[in-house]
Amino acid sequence: MNSTIREYFVLNPPKQNVEFISDSGRQIGEKVRMCSKNNFFRLKKNGEKIQREWLIYSPCSKSVFCYVCKLFGNSDQSLCTTRFRDWKNVTSRLASHETSLLHCTNVCQLSQLSKTAKRIDSQMPQQNQNERAYWRDAIVRVVEVLKFIAEQGLGIFGDNKTFGSEQNGNFLGLLELISKFDPFLAGHIGEHGNKGKGHVNYLSSQNVF
Ligand SMILES: [Zn+2]
Repeated sequence: MNSTIREYFVLNPPKQNVEFISDSGRQIGEKVRMCSKNNFFRLKKNGEKIQREWLIYSPCSKSVFCYVCKLFGNSDQSLCTTRFRDWKNVTSRLASHETSLLHCTNVCQLSQLSKTAKRIDSQMPQQNQNERAYWRDAIVRVVEVLKFIAEQGLGIFGDNKTFGSEQNGNFLGLLELISKFDPFLAGHIGEHGNKGKGHVNYLSSQNVF
């Protein structure tokens, strides 16, 4: 995760995908268990429900994770960088995660970056705003294509990573297809495609992730 990706998701929090949890069922022992809508809320002692905005359901891996810890954490704990789908123990795992030092530290970092990013967004000179909007538009397209590839369980790259090649795989191939109807993407590929290592463009394996 680099700072541009972090800033993007700070300004555009991911959807929680609660509508997809009906797909989360797993056979655990003799029972089929699944993620529940209640998992997306913390129940306070006075009965008040607090939404766990940090919790995201991933339809493609049928698991949940904390997007805040994924953005800022450096731990390999489940919920942070590895998926969690042990629905038998999910209630206690979520409760211990949201009170852990790592999670609280990461939420603080998100809050700080959110304030800074929103201030910069509103105060930045027009030229910089245009540049930021440009890269945001580029990242939106790349993220959507990667999400589609992940959801379909497809490979990302082919035999090569060259625009214009028939063997360049699903990621570059889909970007090329969309660019036929999307002048912005066509312009971006024309300007930044095939530049190789060291050139930040979100189109190559060196700087997609
Ligand atoms: Zn967390």
